[in-house]
Amino acid sequence: MTDIITCPSGLTGRIRGMKVREERALADRKLARAGGQVDELLTACWEETVGPGPYDFGGAVIDWGKVLQGDRFYALLEIRTLTYGPDYAFSVPCQNDACRARIDWELDLGDLPVRPLSEESRAAFLAGNRFESALPESGAKVWFRLMTGEDERKVSRLRRSEGERLLSAMLALRLVEVEGVAAKDLRRFVEELSMRDADALLDELDRVDCGVETSIEVECPECALAQDVELPFERTFFMPGRGRTARRRGLSGSSPA
Ligand SMILES: [Zn+2]
Repeated sequence: MTDIITCPSGLTGRIRGMKVREERALADRKLARAGGQVDELLTACWEETVGPGPYDFGGAVIDWGKVLQGDRFYALLEIRTLTYGPDYAFSVPCQNDACRARIDWELDLGDLPVRPLSEESRAAFLAGNRFESALPESGAKVWFRLMTGEDERKVSRLRRSEGERLLSAMLALRLVEVEGVAAKDLRRFVEELSMRDADALLDELDRVDCGVETSIEVECPECALAQDVELPFERTFFMPGRGRTARRRGLSGSSPA
């Protein structure tokens, strides 16, 4: 079974559902640590590029390292949906400290809002992936980039090495240039940012990006608290059968394997 999809940037291609052999890539811990699982899966299931959107792959096969994070994630959701259907069941802990119940939730992945790449962002991406902004407090003029597959790999390395400094490491990764600041001092510039400027920058990164909205609202069945959560990616995302088995046994369907 195949399907033709158009990603948020306009990148269009034919995908197929996952086969049993792709499970090996998903179960490969070494690949997971290196951040290569998603690339393996995208490469395997993307059969043909129909329209390259804003990318220039030099006429050759698609290079997922150059593709925007928003497109990659969209394609991944579509591959998952083509393989197992759109229903995704997971559970998250209630954020109410007095409750902490497990919230079992199920949603239709097709209902997640998708934001296309705007004309303005497409132009900035084509002009070398450089987006200009001015920070409200310091007035600093900065240029940043939208995340691509190559950046995602860097982030999975940072997750292991940076710990609580992850936020500044990730901001530094996306800053291309700051007016009047040498490249070697970018990291220090980020560390010294006021929270107001950092917030404004994160908002701007969000505003110009494309992709799938993964912040969703769930409601706790125990204490009725409505809360925003980031869609979790559990084993059941790519192997929903395991979730079904666990639920039949009356266990949580989401314990990480
Ligand atoms: Zn609760």
